[in-house]
Amino acid sequence: MLRTSLFTRVNGLSYKSPINVMKARSCSSASHNPLKINRIFENNKAWAKEKDVDFFKKLSAGQNPEYLWIGCSDSRIPAEQITGLQAGEVFVHRNIANLVCNTDLNVQSVINFGVKALKVKHIVVCGHYACGGIKAALAPQDMGILNPWLRNIRDVYRLHEKELDSISDEGQKSDRLSELNVIEQARNVIKTAVVQQCYEENGYPRVHALIFDFKTGLLKDLELDFEAILKNIKKIYNLTGQ
Ligand SMILES: [Zn+2]
Repeated sequence: MLRTSLFTRVNGLSYKSPINVMKARSCSSASHNPLKINRIFENNKAWAKEKDVDFFKKLSAGQNPEYLWIGCSDSRIPAEQITGLQAGEVFVHRNIANLVCNTDLNVQSVINFGVKALKVKHIVVCGHYACGGIKAALAPQDMGILNPWLRNIRDVYRLHEKELDSISDEGQKSDRLSELNVIEQARNVIKTAVVQQCYEENGYPRVHALIFDFKTGLLKDLELDFEAILKNIKKIYNLTGQ
């Protein structure tokens, strides 16, 4: 109830309506629902109860994940659940439409820490079909604070304008842009100094581009040719000092 009263839906995305927020604040006691947050604690207790002492002993000792996962914030794609990886096995960063922006300190810090400190062997950029962020970028609308974020997706469109313009079906166009966006974001990961330098010194990490399909529940490998892209982008983006 609170969600529908606070948010207005535009093109599949929800925005807080200032008027509805004011209405909700005026009856804040009705909007305060402790039962919903209690569910989290109840689930947590049940989860902790299932584990043995060794499990928490191992978690307390630190993390040594082999994978860094950069995915979309979409609530339907929990990285650990769809990959079967356990706590401690994957370092996760998620944002709207799984973007790797050069000026985003958040994702850049995650990549830096993942590669330098955790020494991850694989960096996975994972997008998904029917992505709300991709659809929003395709819409001719002012999305407020989202505009500069979605601009990154529009830039991917510009790079592949001819191919995307030739797709008349809106759903197919959006899905193809999702694929092209994942590949471009994986390319952005390869452009970072830390990935280039670590790969040259150690032969890892390798970067992968995957896409998730809600209809089948399966991940598809977009078969990024990591070494060819690395070699190719070094013409302009070489940060190895050699
Ligand atoms: Zn998404």
